[in-house]
Amino acid sequence: MATEAVKKKIDNIIKIVEKNDPDADPDMIMRAFNLADQAHAGQKRKSGEDYIIHPVAVAYILAKYRMDTETICAALLHDVIEDTDTTHEEIATMFNPKIADLVEGVTKIGKIDYQSKEESQAEYIRKMVMAMSKDIRVILIKLVDRLHNMRTLEYMTKEKQKEKARETLDIYAPIANRLGIQAIKAELEDLSLKYLDPEGYYNLVKSVKAKKQAREEYVNQVIDILKKKLAEVDIPCKVYGRSKHFYSIYRKMKAQHRKFDEIYDLVAVRVIVNTVKECYGVLGLVHTEWKPIPGRFKDYIAMPKPNMYQSLHTACATG
Ligand code: MN
Repeated sequence: MATEAVKKKIDNIIKIVEKNDPDADPDMIMRAFNLADQAHAGQKRKSGEDYIIHPVAVAYILAKYRMDTETICAALLHDVIEDTDTTHEEIATMFNPKIADLVEGVTKIGKIDYQSKEESQAEYIRKMVMAMSKDIRVILIKLVDRLHNMRTLEYMTKEKQKEKARETLDIYAPIANRLGIQAIKAELEDLSLKYLDPEGYYNLVKSVKAKKQAREEYVNQVIDILKKKLAEVDIPCKVYGRSKHFYSIYRKMKAQHRKFDEIYDLVAVRVIVNTVKECYGVLGLVHTEWKPIPGRFKDYIAMPKPNMYQSLHTACATG
């Protein structure tokens, strides 16, 4: 049965959901946890830990993404149809048909055969995954399921690690990207890289670490200049520095045949404003202060991404 640490985590999950979901149902979450705990009793993860830590970890991450009670219950139960005797009907009766459908949806995606090497095949599978998930919450649970499995991939065999990493890079990271969940996309890509090219990954981690301080000082200078200029023209805004994740540096080095020292845009600055007009205003100001690099400007306001993401991107030469 569940350890103290697991019980504490489930209490925590309930607290987070109560904060974010006006229709939070702590009793239902507790029942979902108890069912999962009983159904998975005796099962172990490859790490040797009780199996229940996995669905609880998935539910916890989703709670932090402010998901609702149904998603959290389905996350707790996401492996019971596949790995235990529990059925769709039982979940529908004990909880509701919606939660049963979510669990079944996640189970179905898990059964897709990913054995493909070609990009056209990968796109086909990504489309199939999207199409199979009529409820977007199915994909969210599946993405976070994969995220937790990738975080704990060290316990798998070398062969399995490479297989899962490839599949994550080809199928799940692009889906996270399509949905606009950048944090999950970036972590999935970095974890995949760690297993697909360990040497490349650890070299990159070392290089990035070595340059970290200089880079942070530099980006802070840029932020200071921007804040001052924006205050002068009365544009209220928030300015953040953002570091590229390892895989995006790696991909750039490969694609452009460059060494780490030849990659310049390791940092980016993000300016959040209130209106579209102000957004174009910031762009004008940036291009006055620094020289824009041709071909790098993208107007995602006039042409939003398919997930409705809207912003302006530019790259400038500095120094
Ligand atoms: Mn799972």
